Order: sequence, then C-alpha cells, then structure tokens
Amino acid sequence: MAERVETRLVTGGRAHGPGAPLGQSVTMSSTYRLGAELEYGRDGNATWAALEGVIGELEGGDAVAFGSGLAACAAVLDAVPGGGTVVAPRSAYHGFTDQLRARESVGRLTVRWVDIADAQAVAEAASGAAMVWLETPSNPLMAIADIAAADAARDPGSLLVVDSTFATPLLQRPIEHGADIVVHSATKYIGGHADLLLGLAICRDPGAAEALWEVRHREGAIPGSLEAFLALRGLRTLGVRLERAQSNAGELAARLDAHPAVSRVRYPGLADDPGHAVASRQMDGYGAMLSFETLGDAATADAVCERVRVITAATSLGGIESLIERRARYASERLSGTPPTLLRLSVGIEHVEDLWSDLDQALQPAVSSGAAAR
Ligand SMILES: *Cc1c(COP(=O)(O)O)cnc(C)c1O
Repeated sequence: MAERVETRLVTGGRAHGPGAPLGQSVTMSSTYRLGAELEYGRDGNATWAALEGVIGELEGGDAVAFGSGLAACAAVLDAVPGGGTVVAPRSAYHGFTDQLRARESVGRLTVRWVDIADAQAVAEAASGAAMVWLETPSNPLMAIADIAAADAARDPGSLLVVDSTFATPLLQRPIEHGADIVVHSATKYIGGHADLLLGLAICRDPGAAEALWEVRHREGAIPGSLEAFLALRGLRTLGVRLERAQSNAGELAARLDAHPAVSRVRYPGLADDPGHAVASRQMDGYGAMLSFETLGDAATADAVCERVRVITAATSLGGIESLIERRARYASERLSGTPPTLLRLSVGIEHVEDLWSDLDQALQPAVSSGAAAR
C-alpha cells in the first residue's frame, strides 16, 4: 500500500461497499450458532479482529489482541522452550521484569540481563539464547536499542521480540528492522485516553501468530470487545495526538535540559542523548515520553509531583493528559537501577506553555535544594 502511516491509521480496516458501516460495532456475544468456525467468545470476536487487522497491517504482520500488555508479553514468553534462555533488558517496564523474575525463580527459563543500549553486550548475550527481548525506547530510562544490530547478532531460529509501546506503530515498525514479534501495551498510546487496558502482539510469521492465538485460547487472557472498540477508535487519532504530544515533549526536554533544578534529561530527540543516533535511524520521531532527574533526593522529586497542577501525578502513560511519576518508588525499579530522583513524564496534548509554567513552578523545591547544595 502506498499511503503513509498517518493515512492508514484512518482508512485501515474499514468495511467497503454500499451501506457498510464506517464505525466498528461492539460484538458482545459469548456464543454463536454452531456450523461455522467461530463457536465461543474465547475463539475470536469481530471487534478484536477489526483492531488486529489494522495493527497487523501497520506493523507488517499478523496481530493477536490480549487483555493487557502484560498478558501479551506472557503469551510471547510462552514460546521459549522449557529451561531456555532469554536475553532481556536489565531496566524495562517493571511489570515485565517482574514477569521474567517470576519465571526464572521457578526454573521456567534463564534470563541474561543486559543493557539493551549496548549493542555489543546484546550481541554477546544473544549467543545460545532462544529469545532476545528489546524494549525501545525503554521504560523509564529511555534507552534506545538497535533492533537491526540485535537481529544480525542473534542465533538463527531464535526469536527477536520488541516492546514498541513507547514508539507506537507510527514512529517505529520493528519488523522492518528484523524483529519477529512486536508487543504493544495498547493501554498507552494506541488507546490514548486512559480508559482501557489491552495488549497486542504482532508476528512476522503467520505460524507464530497462530501459536499466540492458541495461547490466548488456552490460557484465556482475552480482551473485552468494548476495550477493542475503544482501542481502534483511539488508534484513528494517533497521528494528530502524537504529533502534538511529541512537539510538546521536544520543547519540554530542551527547556528541562537548561533548568537549574534538573541534573539530567533523557529524551532521544536531544542531540547529546546517548540514544540519539540510533533513534534517528530507527524511528520516524522521538516520541512523547521523557525522563529527568532533579537535584536533591527522592523527597525533593516527590515534592515536584505533589506541586504539579496541570500535569497529574499518576502512573501509566500515552494518554492525552500529561502524567508524572517518580519511578523508583517501586521496589522492582530500584532493583533495576532507576535513579531515586528520576521523574517519568508522559507528555500530553495540552498547550506547551501551560505545561512549562506548571513544571517550572513545581520544580521550585529542587531549585532550593540545588542552592542549598551550593
Ligand atoms: C505499560 C507497559 C506494559 C504493560 O502493559 P499493560 O497494558 O499495563 O499490561 C508493557 N510494556 C511497556 C513498555 C509498558 O509501558
């Protein structure tokens, strides 16, 4: 298809022909009259299928929807043979590192934890591994992994998986760079309005998608059809939402970088960010997530979250509203090395000057702590 991604987000998966509804229906039936392939609600659903069709087309593979992003991750991990080795990011979405640690602790698999921004380390760890798992940009350190380099280094027959949640299908299509499976928490940018949980896994190989379908059917982590409807509706506006949020994020990253209360900004769009070169090659934009560290200690950073008024102190990301959170408040994030004052900012679509004045006033305690230190 010749159209650009922005267009396909709007036109993809629409029913054609006279009288065809433009909007997707929400199919709520749990059972179907016998005589066709679809018999029961866990087998499939027309609303999931509509979402899966559009996402699969955008990413260049076959998509399977799950009840949450983590349910999609768990189903993908099911492809690792018993006792097999997974190369995984030392720092990544903490729900996922928890999922790996739980499997490791019962001997289900072995994990080789690596810094995924270090392509050499990924390449060395990949030898003999059944699966290489990248998350890029990573949550919350904004590390950028080189997908093509990992593809070149891994063993034949292994699976290369990319959690592309922060990038969305608009900014990064990992299958084009050699990935076998792409995972999204559609709870975030795809849904985009903080009103649903849903996960997606997209496979280059139809056989791998079939295997994921089997896992979903057997284990039961199905999405709700209303959630699938909302995710598809959210996806239609991803282009405009992300355009605004990304432009806000670029501006805020530059201003935070020059702020006297901020010691470090992590945003791949900054020219001196360690991930800038790879992100520029691999992505069609730097996204709307950024992290920064304040001067002072964890209490100073917490005070910033308490002072914001336009931005909301809450977990999650990828919605129209800006959210801020100190990630090291989670034990598993401290375990994977998240700095104590790191604040993750999911930049929304509000006016950038309102976001900036809010951040600037909220950073006052950190300014004072910096002055005290001097
Ligand atoms: C949120 C998130 C997940 C988990 O998704 P849920 O929908 O919350 O289960 C996985 N990966 C990344 C990068 C995330 O940010």
